[in-house]
This record gives sequence, C-alpha cells and structure tokens, in this order.
Amino acid sequence: MAMHLSLTDGTNKGNISALQDLLTKLELPFQRGSTVGIKLHWGEKGNCSFLEPVYAREIVHRLLSQGCKPFIFDTSVLYSGGRHNGKDALETAASHGFTEEYLGCPVVIADGLDGRDIIDIPAGFRHFKTVQVASLTDKTDGYVIFSHFKGHLAAGFGGAIKNISMGFASRAQKQRMHSDVKPILRQIKCTRCGVCVEVCPAGAAQIIQGEYPTYDLDLCIGCAQCIAQCPEMALRILWGSDNDTFQEKLVETAAAVWKIISSRTVLINAMIRISAECDCLPGKPDIIADDIGFVGGTDPVALDAESVSLVGADVITGAHPHLSWQTQFSHAEKIRFF
Ligand code: SF4
Ligand code: SF4
Repeated sequence: MAMHLSLTDGTNKGNISALQDLLTKLELPFQRGSTVGIKLHWGEKGNCSFLEPVYAREIVHRLLSQGCKPFIFDTSVLYSGGRHNGKDALETAASHGFTEEYLGCPVVIADGLDGRDIIDIPAGFRHFKTVQVASLTDKTDGYVIFSHFKGHLAAGFGGAIKNISMGFASRAQKQRMHSDVKPILRQIKCTRCGVCVEVCPAGAAQIIQGEYPTYDLDLCIGCAQCIAQCPEMALRILWGSDNDTFQEKLVETAAAVWKIISSRTVLINAMIRISAECDCLPGKPDIIADDIGFVGGTDPVALDAESVSLVGADVITGAHPHLSWQTQFSHAEKIRFF
C-alpha cells in the first residue's frame, strides 16, 4: 500500500478532519468480524502530551464501520508510576479518557494484569535471538499501530518502530533493551530532594539525609525512571556501552514483532503535539514543532523516515543533540527490517 499523508490546519478540528481524511484513504486489510488491536500510548500518569482519546475513537469508528471488532491496547512498563502493572495501567488509561464507554471498544493491557501473558518469538538478530512479547502478538487478526511521533530521551525520536518495539515487549524484554542505561548525577543541579530514590523500582537509588543520592549500578535495571522524574534534570544517562546499542535493540525487537504482524497491520503516525519527550514522562514537555497531520501506510521504517523528514531532521537533532537517532534507520536497513 502506498503511503498517505493528510495535513492539518493546526486546530483541534483540523487535526480530527485530517485523521478522518487519512482513514478514508487507507485500505484496511481486515475482514468483517476480524479482531483488530489498536496499539497506542495512553500516556503516563501526569503526562500532558499524550494524544487525546478522540483520535483513537476515530480509528475505532472506522473499524466498526467495516464490521471489525476493535480493541485498544498497550503493555505495562518497567518503572513505577501509573502503568507498572495491568491494574494501574488501565486506571491511568481511564483517567486519560480511554474508556470503553467513550471509545466504543474494550481497553486491554496486552501482557496481562500480572505481566505474564507473554510469549517468546524468534528474532535471529545480533542482540536478540528471541524476543519476549505480549501473547496477543500471534493471536489477533489484525493491528493498527497508532504512534505519536515525538522526541525521546534515549532513542532521539519515537515513532512507529518504537511503538511496535516497546509497545509489544514484555517487561523483561523492555529491561533487556534498557540494560545499557544507567544514571549519572550532576551534583551541581541536584537539590537532594530524594525523588529519584522514591521512584526507583530496584532499590538502586539511595540517599542519606543531607547527602547527594547514589546509584548502585549492579542493582540498577536501567529503567531510566530516575532520569525521567528528576525535577532538576540533574541526571543524565551513563550508557553502559553506547546509545547505538539501545537503538539497535529497539529496532531488533520491533523487527521480530513485525515479522509476525506485517501482513495484517496498518500504521498511522500522528505528527501533532510534537513534544521533545515521550509520553512516558509526567509533566508537560516542550513542543518542538507545529502540528503537521497524519501519515499512514504499511512500512514502519518508511513511515518514521517520512515523519522525520516532515518534522525536520534538525528539529529532532535539536531536541536531543547527544543522540544519533539515525541508528534506528541504519540498523533497520542492516537487519533488513522491511
Ligand atoms: S531527583 Fe534529581 S534533584 Fe532530586 S535527589 Fe535525585 S538527582 Fe537530585
Ligand atoms: S537507578 Fe536504575 S533502576 Fe533505579 S530508577 Fe534509575 S535507572 Fe531505574
């Protein structure tokens, strides 16, 4: 299927019209009666940059009109916060308006309420011979991968590749991808508030009253929660190897999932509310570009490349100058992602 683009005039109404327009252009390869999972990110508790549920509802309506049985899903995450387990994740979804009543379809946590509804699938790449993902990966009739395109503190940008990768991954697989991420403190910025200790799920961050926090890198699981939650931005990532390794792992996980779902999947990247950071972080990150619209198709790498081009490579680089986001593309090409 060709790639399609629908531009917005930048208003809320224009954004919805652009998505409706794209949905009329896209051929959805789903039979009547098919169960179709819409993979999206409903935002971390306290996040203000996630895509509002009105967009997901448009996709749901489109699928219902075609006689499909849609559902919305995401997976639980490594760090403490509002999505650490299935129950919390669904409560966070509901608090952001992602409810069955509003959307017209169920909202599901794909790796199960206890995070154990998972399977291992083959990968055969440099970092991963297998990857572990939510078990619905090989059960559902079809998918719409609906990705909020924006910056990301570890990947440079987050789009379709990242949504497939982290979005389908079990918590253990997320950990395998993050294992090279460790915090490093810039004492000059630290107020010794202790937030990093409170949010650390591994007991790796510690603080003695009046002292600066310390991080036991042997206990650290690399979830980056302390880095994300520090109110003073006093923590940076100390890469265990280099940032390229994280991005390569991200791409390999996505590619393994893609091998299974590619023939029954359509993707949409939303280039609205283009923030510097991912929707995993609480708060209101800086907006780095004006709303553009939506691009849809069946090739996640091409969709992300088009999104980078439309937003501007210099804009993406400017948001995270120390990261080489190009690795997502070079590694995708190397492993013949598509
Ligand atoms: S959250 Fe940030 S400012 Fe607070 S103690 Fe930790 S590193 Fe320092
Ligand atoms: S110290 Fe390690 S495990 Fe703890 S929050 Fe930071 S990155 Fe996560």
